[in-house]
Amino acid sequence: MHSTGWRGYRRFAGYTLATLVPVVWLGVVLERTLVDEVDRAALRDGAAEAMTISDAAIEPFLSGDPLDDGLTPAERDDLARSTIALVGNGTVLQLRLRALDGAVVFDASDPGVRLPAPAEPDDEVDEAIAEGSTVKRTTMGSDSVDGGTSDGTPAIEAYVAVHDASMERVVAVAEVYIPYEPIAAMRNSSLNRLRTVLIVGLSALWVLLATMVWSVGRRLRRSSLRTEFLALHDPLTGLPNRRLYADRVSSALAAAGRTGQDVALVVVDLDRFKEVNDTLGHRNGDEFLRIVARRLTDALRPGDTVARLGGDEFGIVLPGVRAEMVDQILRRLQDAIGQEAELGGLAVTAEASMGYAMWPADADSADWLVQRADLALYSAKSARASIVRYHAGIDEFDPQRLGLVAELRRAISAGDLVLHFQPKVDACTREVVAFEALVRWSHPTRGLIPPSDFIPIAESTGLIGPLTQWVVDTALAQLAVWNRTHPDLSMAVNISARNLRDDLPGWILNRLAAHRVKASRLVLEITETSFAHDPIRATMLIEELSAAGVVVSLDDFGQGYTSLGSLGHLPVRELKIDRGFVVAMQSSPEDRAIVASVVELGHNLGLKVVAEGVENEEVCAVLRDLGCDTMQGFLFSRPVPADDALGLMATIPQPA
Ligand code: C2E
Ligand code: CA
Ligand code: CA
Repeated sequence: MHSTGWRGYRRFAGYTLATLVPVVWLGVVLERTLVDEVDRAALRDGAAEAMTISDAAIEPFLSGDPLDDGLTPAERDDLARSTIALVGNGTVLQLRLRALDGAVVFDASDPGVRLPAPAEPDDEVDEAIAEGSTVKRTTMGSDSVDGGTSDGTPAIEAYVAVHDASMERVVAVAEVYIPYEPIAAMRNSSLNRLRTVLIVGLSALWVLLATMVWSVGRRLRRSSLRTEFLALHDPLTGLPNRRLYADRVSSALAAAGRTGQDVALVVVDLDRFKEVNDTLGHRNGDEFLRIVARRLTDALRPGDTVARLGGDEFGIVLPGVRAEMVDQILRRLQDAIGQEAELGGLAVTAEASMGYAMWPADADSADWLVQRADLALYSAKSARASIVRYHAGIDEFDPQRLGLVAELRRAISAGDLVLHFQPKVDACTREVVAFEALVRWSHPTRGLIPPSDFIPIAESTGLIGPLTQWVVDTALAQLAVWNRTHPDLSMAVNISARNLRDDLPGWILNRLAAHRVKASRLVLEITETSFAHDPIRATMLIEELSAAGVVVSLDDFGQGYTSLGSLGHLPVRELKIDRGFVVAMQSSPEDRAIVASVVELGHNLGLKVVAEGVENEEVCAVLRDLGCDTMQGFLFSRPVPADDALGLMATIPQPA
């Protein structure tokens, strides 16, 4: 703050000096013109005075005859009388009358004198004859031809043509010396007045100019600072953006190289941001991000960098930090952003997963450091709100896969995913009772990517959250449309083990309500193995959903080893026999036996049994004989786009 004030001051001084130059130049030019003008006016005044004297004190006393022979005694007497007072009271310093050839015929201070014409023609006399008058500044006695006193008194020397009575003919030239002193006093006083006006005016101009230049300069500087700021900062939170972040990372690493200190590079990803955005609206979502940004910044030291990398992802650079300290710092950050905040009248808390990598221990280039911090984040995301440091074990991700992660992240938000629908049909009537929504990735260059190629990536990076939300939302929107004409139709969606989080039931019920779909029309297919991961939590979540009327189906049953005892306690309504058994049934009596016992077991527990992977009529017939309730498979239809799905309702082939 202090230094910017000082800089502003110096800049202002600079502008002041720069604008002073033209103002002073203008002042000098104006002053010089002014002095010239005033001097010329003084001379004009002198000439006018000389003419008045000639008109009043000389002309009336001349007979009008040429003065080649000098004055007549009468003329001389008259002149002496009329001029004596002028000389006496100092109105003129000297007054002489000259004949046209320059000869002095009368001198007021010495009326008797008569000087002959000078050898050379007198320029001033000639000029006065031609022009009427000529005038200049002089000092008395500076010019020997002028004669008279030689005391150096400043004077105006005027030569004025003297006419005869008819005013047609020049008969003589009066040479009049008028004291310059009174004229000079007037000149100086008017000069002083003009100078004051000039100085005041120019100063005002200067102040105006300096402020104008300064304020225009300041505005330009501000707007360029603003442009620069915007290029390097995230407009929403004001935090550094990716570009500036990359700069900060490299300068932190460079500084670490000099000081030998460590740097921690942290990537933070909010865990439920999309939810906040969806339920509270974008404006609150934005506010939420600003709050998180502020809290992160406030919880760190001034030398640390917090940047917004996009969406709900933040990057943090911690220079000069020891690896042992990082966990503690990050937990402090999690606490800081975990404080309740009020948004749209609701108390909201942020939870974040954080991954980090240490420089120089975990990477030997900035690029690697960034990538490894990212890897650590992906690993942290799979266990929600955790903190993970990069370690070699995470490196099961190959770079291609990493690229795919980034692309998938984009695909989810860009709407590059599509759903295909495969019918589940009644085993006896072959009526379509439900559709299973199966996701595909419509990749711009690779075409339609099957779920087996990207669901595992989504599951290992936390992208499965937003992905499943998209699938459920889209499937329910579709079902809402179909239910208008087919009110009994159900929709099945696949839920990953990673989706089994506390907020799942609330979110599902929210979406059902939003799409006005009955809970009993939604089937959640959850693989048997998902339960194995955290059976208590999974059971609780499923109980909550079942209580609300949502149907839960145990997918891929037979692959895992759910104890038969626990199966009875699970609040599921449907068993889906793994398609491996169904496909293998045809050739393997053992598999047929397994299928038979699963159907029986399911029925004993009061569950509906679904067989998937039904590819031909033989298998279909066996399953029907075993009492299987519902079937799904290529025999009836492959998964198809929504537009083709409804047509299947009438066209599922009946057995011959
Ligand atoms: P799944 O849940 O067991 O889905 C059934 C898969 O079996 C589908 O493969 C389907 O095309 C295929 N299938 C259907 N009938 C037959 C048949 O008669 N013979 C054979 N050989 N296969 C048949 P798809 O669409 O490639 O999906 C593969 C897996 O990807 C799904 O297995 C599911 O685990 C997962 N998946 C698909 N969509 C989603 C989703 O939205 N969310 C999650 N979490 N997983 C999904
Ligand atoms: Ca399924
Ligand atoms: Ca399945």
